[in-house]
Amino acid sequence: MSKRLINFSAGPAALPVEALERARDELLDFQGTGVSVMEISHRSPEYDAVHNEAITLVRELLDVPDHFKVLFLQGGGNLQFSMLPMNLLHSGRKADYIVTGNWARRAHVEAMTVSGEAARVIASTEDTVFDRLPSPAGIEVNPDAEYVHFCSNNTVYGTQWHRFPETGGLPLACDMSSDIMWRPFDVAPFGFIYAGAQKNLGPSGLVLALIREDFLERCSEALPKMLQYRVHAAKNSLYNTPPSFSIYLLRNVLDTFRQRGGLAAIEQENRAKAEQLYGCIDRHEGFYKGHVKEKAHRSVMNVTFNLPDAELDARFIAGARELDMVGVKGYRKLGGIRISMYNASRMSHIETLVSFMDEFARTAG
Ligand SMILES: *Cc1c(COP(=O)(O)O)cnc(C)c1O
Repeated sequence: MSKRLINFSAGPAALPVEALERARDELLDFQGTGVSVMEISHRSPEYDAVHNEAITLVRELLDVPDHFKVLFLQGGGNLQFSMLPMNLLHSGRKADYIVTGNWARRAHVEAMTVSGEAARVIASTEDTVFDRLPSPAGIEVNPDAEYVHFCSNNTVYGTQWHRFPETGGLPLACDMSSDIMWRPFDVAPFGFIYAGAQKNLGPSGLVLALIREDFLERCSEALPKMLQYRVHAAKNSLYNTPPSFSIYLLRNVLDTFRQRGGLAAIEQENRAKAEQLYGCIDRHEGFYKGHVKEKAHRSVMNVTFNLPDAELDARFIAGARELDMVGVKGYRKLGGIRISMYNASRMSHIETLVSFMDEFARTAG
């Protein structure tokens, strides 16, 4: 068998190997049907069981309250940047946006395309290259906002909201593409949560969304059917042919989370991984320079840092590759190194990385 590398890619990212092996084993003959899960009707009982098991796993893992619907949508995280305002910002309604990175900014830009000035920026850290989150005192929500949109983990810059923004009871709307299910959290204050699957849940293209019922009831009915949350919710995400293979794989991934003991157990490992890696960066302060200036805002998922020069970046990347580690190159706008360690990256991978980094700092520094 060909070997699997240690994959720190930001996304599409590493998936749990058990989820892939299960797909491999079932690929040609899905549960005795004699065909693959890709080749059967999305109205068949076999597919229906997979679809509903995926939804049940989402509900169980995130402890989703009954007054929320679980949706599977398409078009990646990006389509939600426009679909959310299309659904909610009709009839002159307004929303607040917190801009803390690339994706958060893009969400706001798309909301402006849909609804112009109704999409307001209430806080931004762009002037310091998104090296921190806004201070709570600097966030003042407008009482007429339908929702307050933020991005829980800033994949490019490496900041993460460990405590969500205070809104005085206004519903939060959140892009959780790169950190959903890294830990348990309280879903109740959210009107809408969405996540492109390719970071922590499954294949790209598929989006997991949670929508609160009162939020759903406020959604527009004057949109093309495929763009209406109401339609997808009413049809249990089976209005049209869903991306069935992607949902099947997401089911496999979530089942591995369940087998690991759920999100509380996963959170413990994620915190331990982050402690190891940031500990290494801090040990070699001056050689590894973290992009994020506020330690309390450091992401547990995406760790960004620079070496003293671009030549050392290149040597670092090559050295990591020699030890079978890939996906460590930083985002093109930021340079340097980015280590993405979603749920599928395990403690042993981080230990291998950290011992390489200690050695690299000692010999090259
Ligand atoms: C990767 C990412 C996206 C982009 O999602 P697509 O599926 O490529 O549209 C959006 N938001 C965040 C936070 C991301 O990390």
